[in-house]
Amino acid sequence: MNKINYDKKMQNAMKKIPVGTKLLLHVCCAPCLTYCLTRLVEHFDVTLYYANDNIDTKDEWQKRLDEVARLVDVVNNGKYEVVPSCPVKLVVKDYNGEHFAMWARHFADQPEGEYRCTRCFAMRLGDTHEYARKNAFDYFATTLTVSQYKNSEMLNLVGYEIEKEGGAKWLPTDFKKNYGYDQSIVLSNKYELYRQHYCGCKFSKVGEEIEK
Ligand code: SF4
Repeated sequence: MNKINYDKKMQNAMKKIPVGTKLLLHVCCAPCLTYCLTRLVEHFDVTLYYANDNIDTKDEWQKRLDEVARLVDVVNNGKYEVVPSCPVKLVVKDYNGEHFAMWARHFADQPEGEYRCTRCFAMRLGDTHEYARKNAFDYFATTLTVSQYKNSEMLNLVGYEIEKEGGAKWLPTDFKKNYGYDQSIVLSNKYELYRQHYCGCKFSKVGEEIEK
């Protein structure tokens, strides 16, 4: 069976979506955000939603958030690769890592990419969709599909499932297409962004020595 090309789906969807449409973009970290911004901010009125209760400590959560905020400033000051159609906004969901840590420990031995991650995606996209619904956003999406360590198919399936609850529609993406991940590394280096060495939960630290 042919795999669905979610990047193509995004491009086709955008042809029918008017410029200036409100998009709530879940953001996991600044490095992943770099490339996604180049694909979205000229078309959408983008608000970033930083909702990442999966991150193991408040310090690490804050460090990633500070870098997102720094990148937003660069973009809004006209010093980025693309000029946004509207200033990019940033909304932060308060950190509450306890609930995630409680249930995720039952799946501590799983490698990255299995059930624990699917639940983690559902939690973060669910938080994003809820905020989008309450605040009249037209679409919601996530930066997570840019990572070569994240299953874009699964992320899109989770997004479509959450969309059924009503409210904001899911914008399908696969930002890792067109060398998106490689470009995110180039941009992260260019803007001297902090690149973490693990995905987020403490279980993803095991054996991790590469930057993500
Ligand atoms: S490895 Fe990453 S995606 Fe998977 S559960 Fe941990 S924080 Fe979430």
